[in-house]
Amino acid sequence: MENVVIIGSGCAGWTAALYTARANLQPLVLTGTQPGGLLTTTSIVENFPGFPDGVNGCELMTRMQKQAERFGARASFGTLEEADLSRRPFVLTVDGEKIETETVIIATGASHKHLGVPGEDLLETKGVTYCATCDGALPVFRNQPLVVVGGGDSACEEALYLTRFGSIIYLVHRRDKLRASKIMADRALANPKIKPLWDSVVTEVLNPKQDKVTAVKLKNVKSGAETILDCAGVFVAIGHGPNTAVFKGQIDLDANGYVVPRKGTMTSVPGVFVAGDCADHVYRQAVTAAGSGCAAAIDAERFLAAENG
Ligand code: NAP
Repeated sequence: MENVVIIGSGCAGWTAALYTARANLQPLVLTGTQPGGLLTTTSIVENFPGFPDGVNGCELMTRMQKQAERFGARASFGTLEEADLSRRPFVLTVDGEKIETETVIIATGASHKHLGVPGEDLLETKGVTYCATCDGALPVFRNQPLVVVGGGDSACEEALYLTRFGSIIYLVHRRDKLRASKIMADRALANPKIKPLWDSVVTEVLNPKQDKVTAVKLKNVKSGAETILDCAGVFVAIGHGPNTAVFKGQIDLDANGYVVPRKGTMTSVPGVFVAGDCADHVYRQAVTAAGSGCAAAIDAERFLAAENG
């Protein structure tokens, strides 16, 4: 029987692990399919306090894990298949094995959204990607025109990173103004290798018949004009959706699938707490995820202490 199982190993998960470990609860962290979470797909993190020169995303997550493990947190490289939160102890099925636990901290984070246009899924890993830092250096993208879709911080970051490899980076955005923070937007727009294509959406990725990306079909949302833009890669950076499907019907989720917290980090099920991007569609920062991981750990610890007198 576990005291606390933390589902997810991003900033929220490892911070919750650090705090529950220091409370002597020996937390078990289920890493999921992306150990370290979304931050491991970022190159340099410049806005996590304490790192004046920035820090590599993977390195930051490795440090968080080490820090939590130093106090007794345990990592299990498992993926949650099923969660029975209808009664306590809660039962989690992880890669076919059952784990019983007194409390759960959901820190499953969010995943990249897809465009949902023809050709996208067929050409995923064949030129369509959701992570420039993971795939940008591949030979197929070198000295080739590349497309980044989106107008947020992620799109700017991806575009800037890709300037190291591509011949030109088209930043395709559906409006005429970036949503990104000013510093990221200014950096992207000042880069001579980045060409913004405003008011434009990708309507199709070509060419599945050749089993590789050769171009995208674009539509100008104001004029309706359609064009074909040759490129060797499409980097989709249009935001994220919460990883909460496994909890549907068990805890309260909002219309977009985000966990609805009540009174701090509690969920609709007593003993189940939530932290990080799976409950946050507003701030979505590494540091806010870490902060909510801390809060969820404290709430879980107090919940157990109240029960045990
Ligand atoms: P985001 O801020 O939600 O931006 C998503 C972008 O994609 C928006 O420009 C949106 O257009 C566009 N978009 C959404 N759905 C689309 C669709 N179906 N087709 C075409 N375009 C679509 O997401 P994000 O950039 O991934 O950032 C997420 C969070 O992480 C933010 O809070 C951000 O600050 C943070 N972040 C920070 C950094 C950093 O500070 N270095 C780096 C990465 C991420 P509209 O503008 O029209 O809505």
